[in-house]
Amino acid sequence: MESGRLDWNTLLPFPVPDAASGTVADALIKEITESVAAEVDPERTDATGQLPDGLIDRLRDDGWFRLRNASALGGHELSDYDAFRLVERVCAVSQPVGQTLAIQNAVGAAALLAALPDGPLRAKVERRIAAGTVSAFAGTEPEGANNAWPGTTAVPTADGSAYLLSGEKVFTGNGDIADLLAVLATVPEDGHRRVGVFFVDTTDPGFRVRSRLEFMGSRGLHNAALTLDGVRVPREDALLGEPDAPRFPAPVGAIALLSALFFNAAPALAIARQCQEWSSAFVARRAVNGRPLGEYDQIQRILATTAAEVFAMDTVVRWSLLDSGLTDRWFERSVTKNLCTVTAWRIVDRTMSLLGGEGFETARSKQRRGAEPLPLERLFRDARGLRVSGNIDFLLDIQSARLLLAGRYAAAGAGAADDVPEPARPTGLGPANEAHLRAAEQGLRRFERVCRRLIAEHPRPDALFGRQETLRLLGRISAELFSMCAVLARVASDTDDGRQDLTDVHCTAVRHRLAGLWRRLTATGEPDYGAVSRSPAAHH
Ligand SMILES: Cc1cc2nc3c(=O)[nH]c(=O)nc-3n(C[C@H](O)[C@H](O)[C@H](O)COP(=O)(O)OP(=O)(O)OC[C@H]3O[C@@H](n4cnc5c(N)ncnc54)[C@H](O)[C@@H]3O)c2cc1C
Repeated sequence: MESGRLDWNTLLPFPVPDAASGTVADALIKEITESVAAEVDPERTDATGQLPDGLIDRLRDDGWFRLRNASALGGHELSDYDAFRLVERVCAVSQPVGQTLAIQNAVGAAALLAALPDGPLRAKVERRIAAGTVSAFAGTEPEGANNAWPGTTAVPTADGSAYLLSGEKVFTGNGDIADLLAVLATVPEDGHRRVGVFFVDTTDPGFRVRSRLEFMGSRGLHNAALTLDGVRVPREDALLGEPDAPRFPAPVGAIALLSALFFNAAPALAIARQCQEWSSAFVARRAVNGRPLGEYDQIQRILATTAAEVFAMDTVVRWSLLDSGLTDRWFERSVTKNLCTVTAWRIVDRTMSLLGGEGFETARSKQRRGAEPLPLERLFRDARGLRVSGNIDFLLDIQSARLLLAGRYAAAGAGAADDVPEPARPTGLGPANEAHLRAAEQGLRRFERVCRRLIAEHPRPDALFGRQETLRLLGRISAELFSMCAVLARVASDTDDGRQDLTDVHCTAVRHRLAGLWRRLTATGEPDYGAVSRSPAAHH
């Protein structure tokens, strides 16, 4: 994205999962999905908003909260990709249970361990993980997750041995059941502010669960509003960021990026695969006016588009997680959350149209009248939250573009020189995908030129970063281009002809979307949205 040149050598051969560790993971996936399916009735969980009694304890005691940890801590040592697959498969059985695993394994103590240097804090967290801990990450506050500085403060005690944490947290996954909580707070110290992550024992005085929260979807998921009222945290139990930089301490940011994939992209993929299966089955059993549904043009497009989108989601996840370390592929990971959750939303919405009344009808109601009780209505609600948790989709688009542009500013606007030869292209693509590949390359060059021009026109980054719609569109364009390149690279390494067709369908749709995005990016004479938003007409 930064150079405007696609070096296919970096994408090829497209990474494939390790067969040996995949077999171990498959056995674990079978074990956990069977166990969750036996214990959890997803409809009942949805209706009551409660997981079965004792389930969390059993998951913890059986080691499911240590998927990626070392065996010395009782962990399963799964790779990021295999752990993601496990969370995805559990989400297919029960989204709240899968997301509980995501919190524990991707942003709770078990994941944050990777950010802790050797020392007393690391040793303490390791002991808690080995003993079996339920943990949570409390970042969001009632004033909003997007404020640069947390409102919760961590004030050093007079003797400097500890911090006193005070503030309110909201939407904390597992916040009501955690024994160990990572809390984001602002530290005012020595005339500077820092963002810190503080490890709070929830039995400590001053910590209180204000209320358990419930959502439109993911019902049953533990989530809470919390109060910290002078909670004392020993100085060594804090991880502090740089002075006056409103950012997570490194590498907590990289962990947060990954956690958004586990918590959001994994259930999104589970929903998408489920919709694909239900769509095929529905079309296979229905006819209209004596003609099988699958013979109608619109229905064929629905089935093909959903299949291609599932393939694309699976592909961007593979690229984001396979053969990569904690801080690698930050751009791909930052856009993959949106690529998966927004695509899942399109798929579940399209599937609802396909299934008609049966799609909108609750599973309960279908059960009463003896129809197959497919819970598409529940998945629709579940899918919507995935575009909120881990941050709202349009803000993430803006953030991705901002990160890309910030890199360009830091490199003093240096982009690709126009005379650099085009890197060698992959072979093995059919004619349609060859054309898509050339379109992707053109898109990347155009993206680079537009970024270069924008930076030249805005010597001060803040002036450009204030143009949110421009950044949102650039974020969307960069994500679409990435998904196109990833799918083309995967299929170029693949001998399965069916995937050539799926790639063609995906890239065709991407190019239609890109045409609209470019048009909007270069639109002139737009309405004055600011004036309209402030006018009386916007408020009645
Ligand atoms: C199911 C679920 C689980 C969650 N789990 C956790 C968890 O475990 N830990 C945790 O810390 N949080 C968690 N969250 C919180 C989640 O991360 C936030 O809800 C999300 O990041 C959005 O933040 P917010 O709700 O505070 O909205 P806000 O940031 O307050 O946004 C409110 C509105 O303002 C807009 N806005 C905000 N900033 C800007 C800007 N710069 N420019 C333009 N518009 C802006 C937003 O787009 C939105 O429309 C969870 C949320 C859900 C739904």
